[in-house]
Amino acid sequence: MKKIAILGSTGSIGTQTLEIVRENPDLQVVGLAAGGNVELMERQVRAFGPRLVSLESEAACRDLRVRLADMDVRIVPGMEGLLEVAGMEESEILVTAIVGMIGIRPTIEAIKKGKDIALANKETLVTAGHIIMPLAARRGVSILPVDSEHSAIFQAMRGERRACVEKLLITASGGPFRGRTKAELARVQPEDALRHPNWTMGHKITIDSATLVNKGLEVMEARWLFDVDLADIQVVVHPQSIIHSMVAFQDGGIIAQLGMPDMKLPIQYALFYPDRRPMRGKRVDFYELGSITFEKPDMETFTGLKLAMRAAREGGSMPTVFNAANERAVSLFLQKRIRFLEIPEIIERCMEAHGRVDDPDVDAILAAEQETYERISAIYE
Ligand code: NDP
Repeated sequence: MKKIAILGSTGSIGTQTLEIVRENPDLQVVGLAAGGNVELMERQVRAFGPRLVSLESEAACRDLRVRLADMDVRIVPGMEGLLEVAGMEESEILVTAIVGMIGIRPTIEAIKKGKDIALANKETLVTAGHIIMPLAARRGVSILPVDSEHSAIFQAMRGERRACVEKLLITASGGPFRGRTKAELARVQPEDALRHPNWTMGHKITIDSATLVNKGLEVMEARWLFDVDLADIQVVVHPQSIIHSMVAFQDGGIIAQLGMPDMKLPIQYALFYPDRRPMRGKRVDFYELGSITFEKPDMETFTGLKLAMRAAREGGSMPTVFNAANERAVSLFLQKRIRFLEIPEIIERCMEAHGRVDDPDVDAILAAEQETYERISAIYE
């Protein structure tokens, strides 16, 4: 029996993780944490019987305690609850499927307690990769990528020597607005941006895919996960999302991982690594597919990716500012308070205004996040 805890169990990755648990009776859920979805959390607790649960607010926890009065489960609110679920004694692996930088402290807590991490929460590595990866190495825990691109690279590198890698090729669908001009992008609405051609995901990452910010975050994530130079990571637009990413080796050979666009494969791969388990679902049919295509990303129109590369190159606290500004800008866009093209504008303004801190510790990362939030609030609230 493999015991798992999940942060963000009510979200897109969290619910798909629970579907995998349902299909694999040798997985047992011991802890769950989420934000405000009390109703779904109640159903998850009844279905999976975790011993410890967390929701964001005390009010949500009170509501859940009333609903679950007949069950033996401890319910702890907020960061205290996230930290408890992350580090709980009986879990072996933590799935970090929470959205945003709130995942940093719980991820560190889990690593300190010796838990392997199935990492979906890319914002944590983007902002604190320089803390998390060395800590994981010191504690001997595995950071297993859940993001489909990083899982693809992880699978392609299996059995290979790291020194033989020449380049990582991260594929991108290009999102719903691939091929559009700036003038066209000026008019797009949240409803349009939320219609991703290939993947069904949470709102924040879907908008990030439309701006190509997500690809920038993935480049930063890959750099930490696989310890490669930024210059050796290339983004390749591949609209069909069948190749999930590739690794080019020094002899000119390239290994790609292919599959249908379905997050359950990378989630399951991380949970059972190094094993592969059977999984139901549609298979790639090459006769039906016919052809797959590749393009260069348009960084002049989708400046979010260009800014991400700049933040990655500058390093230190700059990726935090990039990420925090993006989180707030996406939220403002979803509330229809700013236009689509203002997302990268806000990010750029925050990056320009920030005095970069080298090698920031967690407090300095959280301070840079706060400074960015305040800068945006001063303008928009
Ligand atoms: P969702 O928005 O669907 O889910 C986010 C989860 O986090 C929900 O369970 C939500 O709870 C919880 N949450 C949000 N804020 C808090 C908080 N303050 N305290 C506790 N819990 C909180 O996101 P996704 O599943 O799409 O994404 C999760 C992470 O995985 C992100 O980092 C994303 O970039 C990454 N990822 C996602 C992919 C996907 O296909 N969806 C693919 C690759 C990576 P509630 O709903 O109850 O408020």
